[in-house]
Amino acid sequence: MPYKFTFDLSKVPRFFFTEIATVSYQRGMHKTLIKKLQEMILKFRIQEATGLNLSDALVLLEDFIDLQSINMIERNKFLQSKKRALFLSHCSRKFLDGRCKAVFDPSIPSYLCSHCSEDCLISQSDRVAKSKGYDVYVIPGGSCIPKILKSTKYEGIVGVGCGEEIKVLEPLLNSLDVAGQAIPLIKNGCANTIFNMETLLKVL
Ligand code: SF4
Ligand code: SF4
Repeated sequence: MPYKFTFDLSKVPRFFFTEIATVSYQRGMHKTLIKKLQEMILKFRIQEATGLNLSDALVLLEDFIDLQSINMIERNKFLQSKKRALFLSHCSRKFLDGRCKAVFDPSIPSYLCSHCSEDCLISQSDRVAKSKGYDVYVIPGGSCIPKILKSTKYEGIVGVGCGEEIKVLEPLLNSLDVAGQAIPLIKNGCANTIFNMETLLKVL
C-alpha cells in the first residue's frame, strides 16, 4: 500500500538518519517510542521540512524505525546469503515517460534499464548491484515480487521502495526463508522518487 501522504526527507540533515538507526538499535529499551519520535520530529523540524502533519510524520518515522530494526535482525543472515537480488521501484527512474529507454519485460516482470542517463538512480544502482553479483529488478509495484520470488530462489534480497510497501512483504520473505534488507524512499510521490545511494551501497 502506498502512503496516503507525500513526503520529502531529502533535505533533512544526514544526522536524522543516524538517529533513526540509533533509536532502532535501542528500540526494545524505549518504553515510549512515540514520545521519542515526537522529540525527533521537533528536533529535526520534520513538519516544517516536509509539510506533514504530526500523525503522518509519526507513521513515517515509525516505519523507518521498524524497517531499520528488521534490517539489523536480518543482517547476519543476509551477509551469509549467496544468491541475492535487488528490487528497485520504477518510480525512481529519472524519467517516467518515453525519455526512459528501459524496456518493460512482462514475463519477468521488470523494466530492463538501458542506462540512457548516468545520473539516474536506477542506472547507478543497476550497475553497482550487478557488479556485485546481484540480479536486479525494476518493478512497477510490490505485487510483482511474489511472482519473481516464486520463479527464482534467492537467499537474500534488498528492496527499495515506500516503507509501507516494503513492510507488507515481511511475511512472504519469512515464509520463503529469504533474508531481507530494506531501503525506504526518502521522497515518495510515485514519480521522481529518491532513495539514499550511500545507504544502498552500504547495504549491498
Ligand atoms: S537510466 Fe535506465 S531507468 Fe533511468 S531513465 Fe534511462 S533507461 Fe530509464
Ligand atoms: S512512491 Fe514508488 S514505491 Fe511508493 S507507492 Fe508510489 S510507485 Fe510505489
